[in-house]
Amino acid sequence: KLYNQVQDLKGNIRVYCRVRPFLPGQLCNSSVCSIDDGNISIVTPSKYGKEAHRTFNFNKVFGPSATQAEVFSDTQPLIRSVLDGYNVCIFAYGQTGSGKTFTMSGPKDLNEQSQGVNYRALSDLFFLSEQRRDMFCYEIAVQMIEIYNEQVRDLLNRLNVPSANLVPVSSTSDVIELMYIGQKNRAVGATALNDRSSRSHSCLTVHVQGRDMTSGAVLRGCMHLVDLAGSERVDKSEVTGERLKEAQHINKSLSALGDVIAALAQKSSHVPYRNSKLTQLLQDSLGGQAKTLMFVHISPEMDAIGETISTLKFAERVS
Ligand code: ADP
Ligand code: MG
Repeated sequence: KLYNQVQDLKGNIRVYCRVRPFLPGQLCNSSVCSIDDGNISIVTPSKYGKEAHRTFNFNKVFGPSATQAEVFSDTQPLIRSVLDGYNVCIFAYGQTGSGKTFTMSGPKDLNEQSQGVNYRALSDLFFLSEQRRDMFCYEIAVQMIEIYNEQVRDLLNRLNVPSANLVPVSSTSDVIELMYIGQKNRAVGATALNDRSSRSHSCLTVHVQGRDMTSGAVLRGCMHLVDLAGSERVDKSEVTGERLKEAQHINKSLSALGDVIAALAQKSSHVPYRNSKLTQLLQDSLGGQAKTLMFVHISPEMDAIGETISTLKFAERVS
């Protein structure tokens, strides 16, 4: 298909946009956007002048009523390619409250239908590896880290280590257990006032090794599932100390990520991986044969319009 050829030419980078529904209790008659296929139009208030209707185009736009299963169904082909030995990165980008964690992990009151990309990706991996068991012998292991203020923390053994703990897993229930531990450890760094989870990047990495049982050849693929820190700009005149430092680190690492993906999308000869911990860690899985999927998240409220536009501009630049 022409669409796939275009994707290949662009270095396997795809950008999907997801619009969060209004939450219970919110007025729902004033969404800032309208969706038409892969296009999203933002209706901005008149003070934004010329940009009264601005349209952005993505590989896919999911509206507020899209289910977790629908969102995942377009991600599924990437899972197969991990078993074929490719490296894959899936990112959730957007301001705090726009639905990143919902997409990747699901809501707090989790059930089978509301499971997010992380769980679905792993359960597909196990399912597909099982299907190929006559030809390949697969070993799957996971790692969970958090990057906060450019420091890496291992969420599965809670130490600051350069190479995080790799835990072998053999079923989705193993993974659920580990994700639960990781979430709990992540929360340890947070105080009531300081919800650290929105100011750090969390990354679930799945390493897959497949041995061809006839030839003995070994394939290695890995998949990084990254819930990024909130992309909102903070007002420098209003924050100081720790909070300002956090904001600067987030700003720096999200721009570095944007720069790397934009350079890859443009087939630039120089890709600036060294500018942040995140891009350094993911270097082997960004570019080359690797595949990248970015979910950008939008809040539907008029109040969020400024952040919504900057999110869409970020997304437009990397797509
Ligand atoms: P973020 O991780 O970007 O800060 P969350 O994923 O925590 O945002 O979402 C904020 C709130 O909105 C949560 O209560 C979440 O359950 C809810 N939410 C987000 N996306 C959806 C969605 N697609 N459908 C229903 N509720 C959602
Ligand atoms: Mg979150």
